[in-house]
Amino acid sequence: TELSKLILDRIRDVPDYPKPGVLFKDITPLLADHEAFSAVVEELARLCQGCDKVVGIEARGFILAAPVAFRAGAGFVPVRKKGKLPAETFEASYDLEYGSAVIEVHRDAFAPGDRVLIVDDVLATGGTARATIELVRGAGAEVVGAAVLMELAFLRGREKLDDVDLRSLVIV
Ligand code: IMP
Repeated sequence: TELSKLILDRIRDVPDYPKPGVLFKDITPLLADHEAFSAVVEELARLCQGCDKVVGIEARGFILAAPVAFRAGAGFVPVRKKGKLPAETFEASYDLEYGSAVIEVHRDAFAPGDRVLIVDDVLATGGTARATIELVRGAGAEVVGAAVLMELAFLRGREKLDDVDLRSLVIV
């Protein structure tokens, strides 16, 4: 489609970042282009019809989720790496290639039953999105969907997310 072409043309492959053997998908050229950025925000905002909050996953998820929330008339909620949020939090941990990571959300971020769309830039193994879903549900909200700009299909992250409505604007 038109939108996926717009996106694919503006995501840059950076080899060996953050470590040798990884081909990093860099969304900064897309963010710098008003036509592409606004088209992405419009499309993602459509997925938040009638939702109460848009959750952004640190850090690139924030850049997308905040304008989506604004456009959709919803609130924005940050999910952050452990130690960054100032007030009382809930935590969720997930496995990385080596070791594990912990993410947090404020305990009072959601009203009971809030309808939530989760937004991030790239879906890779799905570990981050999976943990975010658990975090949001644990905080008393309802996950109505998860949306990413780009899904790296070969990492099969989608298999970890079979209980949510996952929308990827492009799949590579
Ligand atoms: P996962 O947990 O393996 O699915 O990794 C997804 C998380 O890592 C997301 O928060 C992404 O922002 C980040 N990530 C993984 N690979 C890339 C990439 O190639 N480009 C940008 N972000 C990435």
